[in-house]
Amino acid sequence: MDKNKLENIVSLAKRRGFIFQGSEVYGGISGFYDYGPLGVALKRNVVNLWWKTFVEDAENMFGIDAAIIMNPKVWQASGHVDTFTDPMVECSKCHNRFRADKIDKKTCPNCGAKDSFGEERQFNMMFRTQVGPIDDDNALAYLRPETAQGIFTNYKNVVDTIYPDLPFGLAQVGKAFRNEISPRDFIFRMREFEQMEIEYFVDPENWENEFEEWIKRIHNWLDLIGLNKNKVHELEVEESERAHYSMRTVDFEYDFPIGKEELLGLAYRTDFDLNNIDKKSGKSMEYLVKGTNKKFIPHVIEPSFGLERTIMAVLSEAYTEDEVNGEKRVFLKLPVQLAPVKICVSPLLKNKPELVDKAREVYSELKKKYGAVMWDDNGNIGKRYRRQDEIGTPYCVVIDFDSLEDQSVTIRHRDDTKQERVKISEISKYIKL
Ligand code: ATP
Repeated sequence: MDKNKLENIVSLAKRRGFIFQGSEVYGGISGFYDYGPLGVALKRNVVNLWWKTFVEDAENMFGIDAAIIMNPKVWQASGHVDTFTDPMVECSKCHNRFRADKIDKKTCPNCGAKDSFGEERQFNMMFRTQVGPIDDDNALAYLRPETAQGIFTNYKNVVDTIYPDLPFGLAQVGKAFRNEISPRDFIFRMREFEQMEIEYFVDPENWENEFEEWIKRIHNWLDLIGLNKNKVHELEVEESERAHYSMRTVDFEYDFPIGKEELLGLAYRTDFDLNNIDKKSGKSMEYLVKGTNKKFIPHVIEPSFGLERTIMAVLSEAYTEDEVNGEKRVFLKLPVQLAPVKICVSPLLKNKPELVDKAREVYSELKKKYGAVMWDDNGNIGKRYRRQDEIGTPYCVVIDFDSLEDQSVTIRHRDDTKQERVKISEISKYIKL
């Protein structure tokens, strides 16, 4: 466990405008976080890469974007109303409540009282709200605790409209809400977060092969976002620990600075959800295999990625300290595709109009081409490099007096701080995005 590292990441995230505590001006609110300009860019890059990898690059994957609030029958049928609970205990002295399975119940982690906990009770984590102007039981609705049900409820709509061959997958990225008893560890356990989920519909005869394929795809993805293979672990979840709907679950754990913890899950949900919908809605969820009489309710393999946990893993992996010219340096070794800013352009000196003009010219051209390009002429060049290192900018382009003569610039590389002279007309060839 490297709590120090986590603190460094939290402080960098705040200092440089990645992630802020939610409602900070009013003293914050536990379990909620806000993204600043660089955090938004990083989050988008993760989502876009995920979407490209799993949806755009696949032939049999399609997108869904369902409403967050759904008919409460969804959560009855799915089992969430009855079973989406965590065990909770309350300290009889300070009245703080804790997740019973996450603490040593001999001593209260808040006030230190000994043997102060009473009976465990089950706490349902769904946030409740009211739909419409009359506040009675009929108006009760929930904020979705997972995005998955928005996919299952649209399964039939998709089959009726585009009738894809099995296997096919439906993907969704969106908010999920869980009233966690003890939110903790920065963006690891939050009350409002985002999931990137896929429901992959298969012929039950093939579920085992399909499951294995998903294990491989997930490893490829984790590789793509730069996670060290040695820090990624598969955990075969025992039956007693599995969610009520799952016949097999493999959790993918990562060595976060807080220890080895779940990054994402892969579950074989069988036909549990579609079967429930079939029964409770009275509408058939059967799939007729084209050109045959074979009909069945498809089974489902579900890779479920937490967006914030992905971001936390990416930041933990990328956060690096080294020494340059005898000085400590902090930099984010982000994969280029995820870096919020790809290129920073500067004139060597800010008070020399001829340099500024030339640098502006280069900046406009690169900005048009790559979008995520930053202009920075604050402070001296060393400070600019440090600032860009801290936010993980892979390339810094500097225009100096020689540039006016030889139409070349200096390109400085984030990871090894090496500098190269490159013709302005050839920058795009040199920069690999
Ligand atoms: P945990 O055991 O850590 O509570 P879980 O097994 O309940 O997680 P799932 O229901 O499988 O989680 O949700 C799928 C993914 O959603 C998780 O692997 C995780 O990445 C993410 N996730 C779940 N709960 C939270 C949360 N409170 N904050 C941030 N991400 C979460």
